[in-house]
Amino acid sequence: MSKVHVFNAGPCLLPQAALDASIEAIKDFKGTGVSVLCISHRTKEWEATMDECRALWKELLNIPDGYEVVFLGGGASLEFLMAPMNFLEKKAAYLDTGMWSKKALKEAKGIGDAYAIASSADQNYTFIPKGFEIPTDIDYLHITTNNTIYGTEIRKDLDSPVPLIADMSSDILSRPVDVSKYNLIYAGAQKNAGPAGVAVAIVKVDALGKVSRYLPTMLDYRTHIDKGSMFNTPPVFSILVMTETLKWLKAQGGVEAINKINVKKAETLYAEIDRNPLFVGTANKEDRSIMNVCFVMAPSYEDLQDEFFAFAKGKGLVGIKGHRSVGGFRASLYNACSQEDVDALVECMQEFEKLKK
Ligand SMILES: *Cc1c(COP(=O)(O)O)cnc(C)c1O
Repeated sequence: MSKVHVFNAGPCLLPQAALDASIEAIKDFKGTGVSVLCISHRTKEWEATMDECRALWKELLNIPDGYEVVFLGGGASLEFLMAPMNFLEKKAAYLDTGMWSKKALKEAKGIGDAYAIASSADQNYTFIPKGFEIPTDIDYLHITTNNTIYGTEIRKDLDSPVPLIADMSSDILSRPVDVSKYNLIYAGAQKNAGPAGVAVAIVKVDALGKVSRYLPTMLDYRTHIDKGSMFNTPPVFSILVMTETLKWLKAQGGVEAINKINVKKAETLYAEIDRNPLFVGTANKEDRSIMNVCFVMAPSYEDLQDEFFAFAKGKGLVGIKGHRSVGGFRASLYNACSQEDVDALVECMQEFEKLKK
């Protein structure tokens, strides 16, 4: 098969080294003679992998003492509910920056008093609202740091008088984060951290236990912290692949190093979008995401969209179709996507321009 370049929004491209190591573990997990798919999660070999995974998260994101990392089923979508259940007592504010934040707010409203503090919905989420004042009488401000569908991103930890809670599903591990500003950071692994089937939550332990409602056992972060994410059977294989992905990231130099590579990749592609008369970017320039680059055909070339999809497919470019609510194109440049992949996309856009202009 000839070389393909994968720009899928999620599940994402994973590093080849992580895939190769995972294939080996399916055949024989750590020399036990048992496949990782059949291993008991109560063995010392498996517990060592869980410990390694937690330690890698703490090291890579420089997570301070007082925080725990837990691995959960149910995806980021279940965290939409668990976050307010565990942290919302009086009132919570949500920054409405896209479909995912809207879904998070919906769950919070079902739990207690939650409201949108600012929104860019009336302009199809093409920008990140700014200049809103954060009240001090709320339990937390919830943000979605990267809006996977619209290609906007909050790349700097907000200054806030109250603790933050963040859905970082699609940009976690893409850059350094000041974890101490957050009561909770959560992410479905399949956008940048691993395969589908596991979500990660980074929880400030002493911020828990402050709500008066009954917390069902499985929806209480303390259950998973107390049991080392093994209250019930964890998603063993997903955690293994995630561990291998984190090992690869560490070998690349960690989040500082990958951030530089990610910025360069995104700059390369945005420069071409801005130069090439056939294409235009959809997100406000100052809020452009480094992870998900959204663009459409320029107005006078709109009828060429399907032709460009076919042209790109012929060049081995996979997964550049935009989300149905935005249309056009979206190239996701997650950690495992290389500069070479981005260069291939840029070259394809340039060749298409020569054909059509
Ligand atoms: C994909 C995505 C989700 C949903 O993740 P699931 O793990 O599928 O529930 C939530 N938030 C953001 C920002 C996403 O990109």
